[in-house]
Amino acid sequence: MRASEDVTRYVTCDVVIVGSGAGGGTVAERLGALVAAGLRVLVLEQGARVADHELTSSEVDMARALYAQGGGVLTAERTLSLAMGCTLGGSTAVYTGTSLRPSPRVLHAWGVPGLAPDDVLARCARFEADNSVGLAPERALNDNNRLFRLGCERLGWPAGQFPINVVGCRGCGLCNLGCSNGAKQGTNRVQLPRAERAGVEVVTRCEVESIDARGEAPVLRARVRAPAPGALGEPSPWAPGEYVVRARAVVVAAGAVGSPALLQRSRLPGRLPRLGHGFTCHPAVIVVAEHPRPISNTVGHPKSFYLDRAEEEGFVVETCMYFPFTTARSLTGFGPPHEALLRAYPRLQMMLVLAVDPVDRGNRVTVDRAGRPVVRYRFTPTVVERLAAGSRAAARIALAAGALRVHAPVADPPLIEARDVGDPCAPGALVERVAPRMFSEGRVAVSAAHLMGGCAMGATAADSVTDARGRVHGARGVYVADASLFPAAVEINPYLTIMALADRVAEAVQRDLGVPALAGAR
Ligand SMILES: Cc1cc2nc3c(=O)[nH]c(=O)nc-3n(C[C@H](O)[C@H](O)[C@H](O)COP(=O)(O)OP(=O)(O)OC[C@H]3O[C@@H](n4cnc5c(N)ncnc54)[C@H](O)[C@@H]3O)c2cc1C
Ligand code: SF4
Repeated sequence: MRASEDVTRYVTCDVVIVGSGAGGGTVAERLGALVAAGLRVLVLEQGARVADHELTSSEVDMARALYAQGGGVLTAERTLSLAMGCTLGGSTAVYTGTSLRPSPRVLHAWGVPGLAPDDVLARCARFEADNSVGLAPERALNDNNRLFRLGCERLGWPAGQFPINVVGCRGCGLCNLGCSNGAKQGTNRVQLPRAERAGVEVVTRCEVESIDARGEAPVLRARVRAPAPGALGEPSPWAPGEYVVRARAVVVAAGAVGSPALLQRSRLPGRLPRLGHGFTCHPAVIVVAEHPRPISNTVGHPKSFYLDRAEEEGFVVETCMYFPFTTARSLTGFGPPHEALLRAYPRLQMMLVLAVDPVDRGNRVTVDRAGRPVVRYRFTPTVVERLAAGSRAAARIALAAGALRVHAPVADPPLIEARDVGDPCAPGALVERVAPRMFSEGRVAVSAAHLMGGCAMGATAADSVTDARGRVHGARGVYVADASLFPAAVEINPYLTIMALADRVAEAVQRDLGVPALAGAR
């Protein structure tokens, strides 16, 4: 450590926002209006600000630069990998940009006193407009997406088209490696630049280690790190070293893993028995299918269609596109069949099967002795059932669309030849072949990118961590504003819902600070 890094620096401000993703970026924009009223607002983000020209298509380099632990965060059981962004904009810098509103059915089922579904939906509509959400035109749909739609049509299943938040999309397909074309409208493109123009200070490479909320106002300990040699991204605007930040309010928006972990290593005035509990993540498997001719998959926006069976059967199937490394990692098995499938990469149709995972008492975020997050997650029989049902549906879609063979991870052996199936449209097709009993934990590659829960909203500390406006029970001046607020899975792609909830939290912060209602920084 250099001498200057030994010095502890002291900073005073009015509001600190921890994290700059869907939640933190939204709060930052909204609270930009406080700067005009003379308040100091900071965003502390542990990831780096990566410039567009640094976003190459290199899968490994981008994973290192943009994702937490290079994209390889594993649960304690090492049977589920979690994807989360660690860069300015958080996961919105790497998300695909599919933009769905939550179902009122789900919001009602959450049963949070003071959370009106209509209010959430109205805010979602506002963010749809802000982030330029719309449908891709027919000419922009690639073969992978058309095959999905065709398969669904032949099966008589209703495929929905995803609204996406892009402006001037060039169809390079690299959404999950960042968007060097500036087309994808994440918080790094929309909300954070507005916040910065309004005077919000964004400090990157700054990890918040703990919060002490036992006094009059919260005090944070944070550490700024210098870039590692050769690392992409700008250095932090603050000098490397330790910081003590005093604020009137702190908004924790470090994501569904980061926020419960940060609060667990913090000093809070009261006990929060539900902290870290209720973690859900829509665990997902990839189903790929080989077609007789090359298909355009790596060209065009990757995600255009989905089949929503969340309410009826607890799963959703989406189109997707993964690069060779991720595809290889996601296929079950080794050796010649695995190699043959990868050699067919230009002819592969791809789908993602997501299970709706009910809250389970064993699934939660904890911290180890060093305060690092540890996610415990076990696959309940319900989740396994849903992964199998979704994989079966995906396999049938591919076969109905003309695939020669399909690789379904919840099948043993996973490779299914079309000639052995008969008519994929026949009722009950593949019921024996793709079944829950074939799910083997650790053998089947399961990943998740919709991380939710851990600081759930609710009525009291006995049933939740915050109220319906993200105020942490019993900890004055401490708020949560991200996906960790979800009391249960949202059952669709979550970012719009997160933004809507974060917007409500920002309003509460403003009100609690005694600042008159301001229109926001836009
Ligand atoms: C590959 C991928 C594709 C996705 N595609 C879609 C999609 O198409 N549609 C959709 O709706 N959703 C999608 N999602 C999910 C969506 O992006 C997330 O649900 C959403 O961004 C979560 O918002 P958040 O604010 O909770 O956390 P994040 O956006 O993850 O932001 C949390 C931020 O906090 C920072 N942080 C964490 N700990 C600390 C700390 N101690 N100090 C300082 N900073 C900290 C992190 O670095 C991160 O930047 C996708 C996610 C991924 C990973
Ligand atoms: S497909 Fe469109 S939104 Fe995705 S990275 Fe390419 S230009 Fe950006």
